Amino acid sequence: MNAAPDQYGVIGHPVAHSWSPFIHGLFARQTEQAMVYRRFDVPPAKFRRHVMHFFLHGGRGLNVTLPHKVAAAGLANELTPRAERAGAVNTLMIQNENEILGDNTDGEGLVRDLQDNCGVTVGGTRILILGAGGAARGVLAPLLELQPREIVVANRTAARASALAREFAELGNLIGCGFDSALLTDDFDLIINATAASTEGDVPVVAATLVSKRTICYDLAYSKEKTPFVRWAESHGCVRALQGWGMLVEQAAESFSVWRGIRPQTAPVLQALIAS
Ligand code: NAP
Repeated sequence: MNAAPDQYGVIGHPVAHSWSPFIHGLFARQTEQAMVYRRFDVPPAKFRRHVMHFFLHGGRGLNVTLPHKVAAAGLANELTPRAERAGAVNTLMIQNENEILGDNTDGEGLVRDLQDNCGVTVGGTRILILGAGGAARGVLAPLLELQPREIVVANRTAARASALAREFAELGNLIGCGFDSALLTDDFDLIINATAASTEGDVPVVAATLVSKRTICYDLAYSKEKTPFVRWAESHGCVRALQGWGMLVEQAAESFSVWRGIRPQTAPVLQALIAS
């Protein structure tokens, strides 16, 4: 008799919109892994109890999404260096049968999508990151490792951007500011929207002069329609405007390889996702 498939899932609130079951289902089929992957809609008050119950009853791994990424870092017994650095976790797994390991694959996902899928060079460039929440925390260190000339982090709440810049200061040339800062006048090589504005149908209120015909714009958010930020970037003449589908698939592939020790091919899954 075949053993029961290993249990995985994504935990968030809300989570009904998540594409992770679709993506991990295709990865499992492609790599012939016996696993099931479910959605768990769990409010913050029940997060810890639900995660403990899942792992106590044989669960092997969880993806963690809004609003639980910081709480997940707090409940893991051990963090990988990149999760520790980010202070946020998007991947949990059981190790040594009773310990929970927390990892963060968001930054790796963005860097792989930018470099491998989209052919974007990060080294030597001037980058603007809009937003200073969990996603910005996750992508800062992997981007700084690629040695951009400068990263400016700008946030609606300026103090959060300044605090983030101070926290990561030893990793590279990094400045934090608000959207109305005098630093935000000249154009950038790459603008990454790591705010949740697109999900609210909104665009961060920044000057159009930040975009020129050499600027690549990347929205971490994704939608079957163009996101508001992608529309904003295109209307101001950027050279390319991308949205976060590729990052979504790449961060999932990194989680999958952490869990299963096998790296799935992402290109066919990204194609299937976009065609679905
Ligand atoms: P978060 O921790 O809640 O942070 C939200 C950020 O957005 C904060 O900086 C907040 O500014 C800002 N913000 C919210 N509404 C805004 C508005 N209307 N105008 C300007 N700024 C606004 O969220 P997160 O986890 O960082 O996620 C951010 C985005 O990244 C979401 O759209 C998420 O779906 C996306 N994401 C995508 C992937 C992927 O794989 N593609 C992975 C991770 C995240 P304040 O500090 O001023 O409140």
